[in-house]
Amino acid sequence: MRKNIVAGNWKMNKNLQEGIALAKELNEALTADKPNCDVVICTPFIHLASVTPIVDEAIIGVGAENCADKVSGAYTGEVSAEMVASTGAKYVILGHSERRSYYGETVEILEEKVKLALANNLTPIFCIGEVLEERQAEKQNEVVAAQLASVFTLSAEDFGKIILAYEPVWAIGTGLTATPEQAQDIHAYIRSLIVEKYGQEVADNCSILYGGSCKPSNAKELFANPDVDGGLIGGAALKVSDFKGIIDAFK
Ligand code: PEP
Repeated sequence: MRKNIVAGNWKMNKNLQEGIALAKELNEALTADKPNCDVVICTPFIHLASVTPIVDEAIIGVGAENCADKVSGAYTGEVSAEMVASTGAKYVILGHSERRSYYGETVEILEEKVKLALANNLTPIFCIGEVLEERQAEKQNEVVAAQLASVFTLSAEDFGKIILAYEPVWAIGTGLTATPEQAQDIHAYIRSLIVEKYGQEVADNCSILYGGSCKPSNAKELFANPDVDGGLIGGAALKVSDFKGIIDAFK
């Protein structure tokens, strides 16, 4: 059956020294008090090679927050999936709403990124979610269905390697959180789309994380839903006590 996962997204926060200190502190806390779920930290590119050797990979997986949609070559400033993998990282967040809205990442670009990540043995944490106007117009189901086109061209075997994260954009960094009912409804809908496309077994094995102002105080009730398999955590991943508080929702 599918895994429960709590993944942190550091975004563009923490310089190298601060990032190393945060990773060390988290590693110590989780070594002393082992989690009951998979834990992943997704860091800026420059942290990856320093962070992977200092965390116990049996407890904490490390990932990037993005990768290029090209294999290699004259793409100044880009970082390829192969480069990410060469640091020892095992995951990559793809399709985060900030990448879609600020950097114009389309369904097609994300399809390429997902394929390159998988070709380099990285596990994509693929994000989908609607903006506030779409939620108000009750279009959230349509929106996530369209965004899933980037991963619905995968074979069932490859689809089985990805993690999904439903992140309502109106809840990211805003302090607003989807209610447990809203989260369960759309997670169940997403799983029903996977059933239609790949069948029940693939759908049952797919972890679907919730993201959007998740905190220690609301994690337990969100994760208690049958189709919510953990969280993708932004702000609260930057402080070990908060991140661990969310991880401990599975205890
Ligand atoms: C995110 O950006 O993935 C996220 C969930 O952010 P926050 O937890 O800060 O809302």
